[in-house]
Formats: sequence, structure tokens, C-alpha cells
Amino acid sequence: MKIENLCVRRLIGDVSGATTRGHKIAIKGGYIHQTFQGGYTLSPLGWRVVKNIENIIREEMNAIDGQEILMPVVCGADLWRQSGRYDTIDSLVKFTGRNGTDYVISPTHEEIVVDFVSSVLETYRQMPFMVYQIQGKFRDELRARAGLVRTREFIMKDAYSFHETWANLEKYYQRCWAAYNKLFRRCGLKNFVIVESSTGDMGGKIAHEFQLITDMGEDTIFICDECGYKCNKELVDNETAICPKCGAKMRVVRGIEIGNIFQLGTFYSKSMNLTYTASDGTQKHPIMGCYGIGVGRAMAAILEESSDDNGPVWNMETAPFAVHVIGLNGKDMRVMELAQRIHDDLVANGIETILDNRDIRAGEKFADADLIAAPIRLIVSDKNIKENVIEVKYRVNDFDTSNMPNQFGVSDFLTKVKDTICTLAHK
Ligand SMILES: [Zn+2]
Repeated sequence: MKIENLCVRRLIGDVSGATTRGHKIAIKGGYIHQTFQGGYTLSPLGWRVVKNIENIIREEMNAIDGQEILMPVVCGADLWRQSGRYDTIDSLVKFTGRNGTDYVISPTHEEIVVDFVSSVLETYRQMPFMVYQIQGKFRDELRARAGLVRTREFIMKDAYSFHETWANLEKYYQRCWAAYNKLFRRCGLKNFVIVESSTGDMGGKIAHEFQLITDMGEDTIFICDECGYKCNKELVDNETAICPKCGAKMRVVRGIEIGNIFQLGTFYSKSMNLTYTASDGTQKHPIMGCYGIGVGRAMAAILEESSDDNGPVWNMETAPFAVHVIGLNGKDMRVMELAQRIHDDLVANGIETILDNRDIRAGEKFADADLIAAPIRLIVSDKNIKENVIEVKYRVNDFDTSNMPNQFGVSDFLTKVKDTICTLAHK
């Protein structure tokens, strides 16, 4: 991909209207474009990052025996009337079709998944199982903020598990907990904690949130340094901040919720009459768990935590391109030809590569490279052509590159780049 053909508009200088560092970088780098208040178009750059995050999530959900499905965004109101939530969720968008049918735009999919599972589930032998999807949702939030942190339309991974016993759900809950820890680390997120949360209007008894600690976060988190207990503001007296477990004074920090896990129990299977034949021959309601991740919000969280003044700092798994090739002198034919050849060889080997052979100042090229933030930057110049080498620079958020080579030979760059990609991807 040539940088001049990339359908992305990068901005120079200060960005107006952005409230946080991550939001500013997302606009400046042209990752997102606000289509309406709370609704964003992801540019080719933003979509590459989001797809990379989706793939990490997919791999980790499959690793805990998740099965991917796809449910509709719009749902007939009947299912929501059955669960009793049609009139209780303020952000639920309802509309009536020309045939007089009432519909909702799904802000979450418990009703639809229970309807689906009721068409499949017959006996206890089929459980446990988990199904998940990665899909757009819409909530009519009163306010939207900070780019992709709180939007009205958003991409979410939502997963639902079905069990015979609470003990079996508890066991699966722990597996999902571990999978979340792993996948957020793979995304390059570092400073996050797991806090107990209230189950709210979802029914059930236990729930936890994964919270990235950051001053711009809109959630309040209470941390007990005495016993290690952590919870959100629903589970503690906010005035006194006394730990409900040990009675010590808790510390208060701000966070962005990047994921949540719920032990739902039988709230939906009972209200929507989902049953199976148990081993003793009786009809029972399965016990459910649900597990969410805001995919766009994960990108926003990485931007908040890891960007610097010049742009984002992705890691090898999330970066929109693995390699950025820069021909430093856009007038020198030898430089341009070598940069083009390096780009073509990398692309032919399946490596996501962007090429900058434009005839502009080096400073502008480097500024753009910082905003695209490929972890490996290869620089071709008339000076290093003479020495038969390519200069290498790194930009990566979860790897110490201080001892990595600062040049590759022109003859063996392909092997070197492949090795470096593996090293930076911790493989
Ligand atoms: Zn405590």
C-alpha cells in the first residue's frame, strides 16, 4: 500500500473537539471520523486495528471452546416483552415497521441468544457450551464522550454460556476470566484491574469488570490495599470508602471499563422458559453466564494508555501495518527503486507493509510514520544505500527494543524482518 493512496486524512497541529489524549490521537491519525454524535466511521487504519483486536478476541474465545455465531441487530419486540425488559431499559431504541410490527435495535443479545438456544438445547448432555458473536450494537445513550470510549453505536463481542450447575458455571467463569486477562495483555493493555461489580438489572449473583486505570476514565473504582479487594462504586459506601471485606479505608481511582463478566443464573432461561431434560428426567432451566468486550473501546483504551505526543504506540498484534518503508529522498531513483522493491518483497511474503516514496520533507514522513505507528520502520537513503544497509527503527508498546539491531543488510532484510516480527510478537 502506498501512503498517498491510503484513504485516511491525517491532521497537522492541534486537534479541536477532542477531550482526551487518546481521542486526539485517533482524530489526528485519521483512525476515526465522527459520522454523528456517538457514531463513528472507522477509516482503513482504524478498521485494521479493530480487526486485529477482533482476531485476538476470537482466538482466545475459541481457545475456551467458544463457538462463533451471528445474531440479527434488529429484533421483534415480543422476545423483549417475554424477558420483561421491553419497558425497563431507557436506552432501548424501539420502532414500528410499516406492517405494524414492533421492533427493537439490540443493545445486548440475551433475549435473542435464549431464543436461538431454545431451538437447539434438548438434554443436559449438550452442556456446557458457549456461543459468542462480534457485532454492532446501538444504545440511545444520553451522552457520548471521548471518541470511541462511550459511543451510541459500537462493536461488541458478547458471549453466553449455558450450564447445568452453578459449580460448572463458576468453573467456566474462571476460564473466561483467565482468557480476558490474556487477550487484553495481547492487545498491549497493561494497567488494568478486575473489580467486583453489581449485577444490576441483569439478574444473577456475581459480576466483575475489567477496568483500565486512567485519569480520564469515567468510572470510579475502589481498591483496598489492605486485603486486595477491588470493586466499583455500586458495592461500597462512596462517602466513607470503607472496604466491605476488611474494614480498611479504600483508595479511589478512575477507570475505563474494557470488559465484563456476569454469572446471570436463570433470569433469562426462566422468564423466557428455556428448558432442557435433566439426567433425572425432569425439565430444568439452564444456568447462564455472559461475557462482554467493547471492541472499539479496547482500541480507545490502548490509545489512552500507550500513545505518546507523536501518535499511537501499538504492538505487533494490533498495529495497522507491521512495516513502514520510507524512501528518504523522493527524487533519487535508486532510493525509490530500492524502497519499492523492499515493499513489494514484504507484501509478496504476506507482511502488511506501507510505502512512503513521496517527494516531501523527511520530517513530514516521520511525523506520518509516528501516526501510523508500524512497529518496524525501514529507512532507505542515499547514505545507507552506499553501505548496502537499511536503517531500522522500532515503535512498539510491550517490548524493550533497546538491544535490537538498528540496521539490516539489503541482501537479507526479508529474513531479518520475518525474525523481528516473530520476536516483537513474543513468538
Ligand atoms: Zn479490604
